[in-house]
Amino acid sequence: MLTLNNLSVSIQDTPIIHSLEYTFQNGETIAILGHNGSGKSSLALSIMGHPRYQVSGSILLDGVDISSYSPTDRHIAGLFLSFQNIPEIPGIKVSEYLRTIYNAHFARHHIDTKSPSPFVFRRMIEKMLPPLGLDSTFLDRDLFVGFSGGEKRRIELLQVALLDPSVIILDEVDSGLDIDAIEILREQIQHFREQKKTVILITHNFHLLDSIDVDRIVILRDGQIERQGDRSLVADIRTQWFK
Ligand code: ADP
Ligand code: MG
Repeated sequence: MLTLNNLSVSIQDTPIIHSLEYTFQNGETIAILGHNGSGKSSLALSIMGHPRYQVSGSILLDGVDISSYSPTDRHIAGLFLSFQNIPEIPGIKVSEYLRTIYNAHFARHHIDTKSPSPFVFRRMIEKMLPPLGLDSTFLDRDLFVGFSGGEKRRIELLQVALLDPSVIILDEVDSGLDIDAIEILREQIQHFREQKKTVILITHNFHLLDSIDVDRIVILRDGQIERQGDRSLVADIRTQWFK
């Protein structure tokens, strides 16, 4: 359960989000909608602890106040936020990157003190590729270099599968994706849902919303919750925004 208590956010003393109160229940898929500039990305980045934002109020993850945690510690505690723009990093292979984040993550958890060998790790990862429409040639390429938008997102989703966070925040990850990549995204979101993850989906894509079992809808406007409700709100909003 992720609870925002009286959460206010500013950037360089400009208030962006105003006294937000909301609880994201475990296992629910929550869609956050709102026009550009309504504060969706600022909210996601503040939850993750981005240093650009001055935050007051508190953020509780399963009852633990994580507001003073570093982004790394929030990640270790179970939060995941997608990148807005996924950077290309020449000189690092995808497989090395994945093994490094896996070892760092689980070492911090003290779950497995013995890191898998590159060979064992690769076999583990290879099993995770087909549902994401990826093959093992991607593992040997430089990190995100020359990847299409859809391929970058698939590797990011592989990262989610690998690190197993409890709260997954996806900020407009559907933008620029082709139909095949959207379908994989949809399947993955349904899969996270079956795994009882909390999924916070920020999107403008009504086709995606129609095809996912969304439990709650939150409409942000000028850094405040304008409306909230169940998925029936989607139809209302669609007519309101596109009339
Ligand atoms: P959304 O994701 O809903 O489009 P954002 O969270 O990106 O909205 O932006 C919310 C508001 O914060 C906007 O008015 C935007 O101009 C402002 N904002 C975002 N980033 C910065 C920044 N680095 N400096 C100043 N204002 C910013
Ligand atoms: Mg945004």
